[in-house]
Amino acid sequence: MSETQDLMEKIVSLCKRRGFVFQGSEIYGGLSGIYDYGPLGVELRNNIKQYFWQKFITERDDVYGMSAAILMPRKVWDASGHTGEAGLNDPLVECKICHERVRADQPEAIAEHEKKHEGKKVEWTEPVKFNLLVETKLGSSEKSQIDVNLRGEITQGVHVNFKNVLDSMHPELPFGIGQIGKAFRNEITPRDFLFRQREFEQMELQYYIKPEEEEGKKWFEYWKRFAWDWYFGLGFKKENLRFRQHAEDERAHYAKDAWDIEYNTPFAGWKEAWGIHHRADWDLRRHSEYSGVDLSYYDEEKKDRLIPWDIECSGGVDRAVLFVMLEAYTEDELGGETRTYLKFSPKLAPVKIAVFPLLKNKPELVEKAQSIYKELKKEFGAVEFDDNGNIGKRYRRQDEIGTPWCVTVDFETIEKDAGVTLRDRDTGEQKRMSVQEVKDFVKSQLSN
Ligand code: ATP
Repeated sequence: MSETQDLMEKIVSLCKRRGFVFQGSEIYGGLSGIYDYGPLGVELRNNIKQYFWQKFITERDDVYGMSAAILMPRKVWDASGHTGEAGLNDPLVECKICHERVRADQPEAIAEHEKKHEGKKVEWTEPVKFNLLVETKLGSSEKSQIDVNLRGEITQGVHVNFKNVLDSMHPELPFGIGQIGKAFRNEITPRDFLFRQREFEQMELQYYIKPEEEEGKKWFEYWKRFAWDWYFGLGFKKENLRFRQHAEDERAHYAKDAWDIEYNTPFAGWKEAWGIHHRADWDLRRHSEYSGVDLSYYDEEKKDRLIPWDIECSGGVDRAVLFVMLEAYTEDELGGETRTYLKFSPKLAPVKIAVFPLLKNKPELVEKAQSIYKELKKEFGAVEFDDNGNIGKRYRRQDEIGTPWCVTVDFETIEKDAGVTLRDRDTGEQKRMSVQEVKDFVKSQLSN
């Protein structure tokens, strides 16, 4: 087994063992490309989403949040171009031996499949375009039934509400609308765990500007930098992130520019984590045409109407979870023992502090530890109490789920009122401090 395969397998196994991520509907044999988040995974994912919401929406006074529905009529996707020739299509080829279908532009998937038929010559059919939009119907009778799609991207939910936001909030350009939500794509070859799923979550900002303000790609450059700083803030090493500009033949015909932030994955090298797209007036113009509703903006200064341009920041939540896990996974030696730990940035860690009594069978230690646990839980929420096994085992359990700090209550705590010990996950170092000092320290670290 190669080292990179090994790392992915270790992460998938840790995710299951410690309650981060499970195969979807596992007891029924699972569904390919579908995953369920367990108790710790959902906290990690929420922390990433909260960090997005805070930086892209709450802290700004030019961006509104919203949450659009998953089901949308087919016409939305005709307007956005997702159903057409240049739409949300991937090239599909079929193996002439076993009739399995694979994405033609994924060399890893092709090679993996050919391995299955080792010794045989695999022949493939000519590639055909396969549309990834998931279809369903709404309505109880054949007559009233309408075709709808589960949205293939969350973007369109914002554009179709552009007028609603204008009419209810009365913003002036430039302004943005951000949202987080599920998207669905019938991926031909879902693979690489959370990387390519059929149901996944996106976090996006659509930032509307006056075309004349975009001289020198001012806003595009601004959001490129902003998205980079945000992604980097998830805790990546500089050398594992890079920008890549889309080649002209790679980007949509209407796009003025497009860049990806890529992560250096152990399974397939540089892969898209986040996209910054200059969509110009494409979406609003098309939805105006297809819906018959005027989606222009009245410019008070010029006393004229215009269709704003849109700069989009679009990232996958689940890809961020996977990349954060890959980046955080560390094996080292501490105190002569090998250990595995997740080096999460404290703001993302599902559990911030674990509180232990030194010994389980000393009621006075347990009682004091319980009271400190309650005090810290009131302050930070994500705090655990653990008195199972010896201290070493408890540290290892917390290391494996990426808890940044462990607080231990020992005899000095109760006999000498000497505070507690605070142990650092990464260095294993312990410092004695008062509970108030623990609170102040953790608070300062979480706000970093
Ligand atoms: P890719 O080329 O990897 O298929 P894309 O260019 O189709 O991605 P976009 O349409 O730009 O992706 O979607 C925006 C973001 O949504 C991506 O940067 C990625 O993080 C996420 N994303 C897209 N498809 C998937 C998927 N199948 N599973 C998980 N996340 C996805």
